[in-house]
Amino acid sequence: MEDCLFCKIIKGEIPCHKIYEDKKTIVFLDINPWSRGHCLILPKKHFRDILEIDAETLTHIILVVQKISVLVKEKLGVAGINILQNNNRIAGQGVDHIHFHVIPRYIDGSLKISHSTEYKGDDLEEVTKLLTESK
Ligand code: AMP
Repeated sequence: MEDCLFCKIIKGEIPCHKIYEDKKTIVFLDINPWSRGHCLILPKKHFRDILEIDAETLTHIILVVQKISVLVKEKLGVAGINILQNNNRIAGQGVDHIHFHVIPRYIDGSLKISHSTEYKGDDLEEVTKLLTESK
């Protein structure tokens, strides 16, 4: 897609710190990392988000997410890993080309990702009904 930042990186029009590449996928370091070794994994073909990507490409991508997780664990002495994937502005998606974040966590690392919400889950039965009843 013409005006997509990540498509420009894939085409080599914008530089990146490339970690891995195959026919369908590219992996590079996040330019504004949350921790050392923070990687972005994305398909070379443009899809906006998880709702748009096809199953075959998504299956391939998630296997690359695992491969990169193993890589950062082995090479960077990572103690834990968060996988993050944002969809839509409201959820924090800043670049509209689907990507998975692999975010290394280190013992004594300063990164905090906290669960903060006013929603207490008082309607779990209703939500279960909504999500399981057929139309
Ligand atoms: P998200 O907020 O989930 O859409 O993530 C987009 C990520 O892309 C952010 O973490 C940015 O730091 C990262 N980013 C933006 N521009 C670049 C770039 N030129 N190279 C590498 N990462 C980038």
